[in-house]
Amino acid sequence: MFVSSGKELLDICYKYRISISEYAVRYEEEMGRSREEIFDKMKKNLFVMQESAEYALNNEVKSVSGLIGGDAVKLNNYLKQGKSLTGDIMVRAMARAISCSEVNASMGRIVASPTAGSCGILPAVIITAGEKLNKTEGELVQALFAASAVGMIIAYNATLSGAEGGCQAECGSAAAMGAAAVVEMMGGTPEMSLHAAAIVIKNILGLVCDPIAGLVEVPCAKRNASGAVSALTTADMVMSGVKSKIPFDDTVTAMYKVGKSLPCELRETAMGGLAVTPTGIKLKNQILGK
Ligand code: SF4
Repeated sequence: MFVSSGKELLDICYKYRISISEYAVRYEEEMGRSREEIFDKMKKNLFVMQESAEYALNNEVKSVSGLIGGDAVKLNNYLKQGKSLTGDIMVRAMARAISCSEVNASMGRIVASPTAGSCGILPAVIITAGEKLNKTEGELVQALFAASAVGMIIAYNATLSGAEGGCQAECGSAAAMGAAAVVEMMGGTPEMSLHAAAIVIKNILGLVCDPIAGLVEVPCAKRNASGAVSALTTADMVMSGVKSKIPFDDTVTAMYKVGKSLPCELRETAMGGLAVTPTGIKLKNQILGK
């Protein structure tokens, strides 16, 4: 039941009247594992995601270079003040996304979902949406399967790597996976999930990979917060009935082509974009001088 495109995924979901997450579970079953084993393994991923999404909310975690750290605590304190413009859900999601990024940058344990650089988006989105929607632990695990099916199709047809396709391929894919999963959690159809993934990719198309000093810290952590917000707002857009004019498969192809046409300076080499701004270079020199 391997699918190589969003269209094939939808055909299978409609043929067997199953959700995207159920497709992903059945695909894993075909690899010879029992349903119980598959769920147990994904549950372990969820636990690590929960740990990394919560830890830096109450602990000032500094990255190894000292470049980032403490922002998740700031967001969490701000949340407690109840003064946010965009509401608790958004601030909580941003805090969790940055918590994961800070844990990652301090060499803590995260789930690369799909990469270490974009590790905060999926946990932030799934946990925060799950809280709001009163989902059980089993339902959060199920949502991770929906996200994984979308990630598999992007990986097959494009790339998940910033070095190959820019940040659109890392943070963009993570946000697309998260948006599709949240739509399923909210009761949307498989088609609606792919509309959400498509809209997210369209909105992040062209984002370059330009980490300061080559470290997965700046601008990565804040791009995780931004990706989480994009996933959640897009899920709402789609649940209201909004559709993507460009189908998911086309957006994936476009992302890959755009990524391939990016010069190497903008694909994780730290030779372009923010990495070579006067401040970017100054920060790099400070770190290397340590
Ligand atoms: S800027 Fe590059 S290293 Fe940082 S999250 Fe994006 S793709 Fe990953």
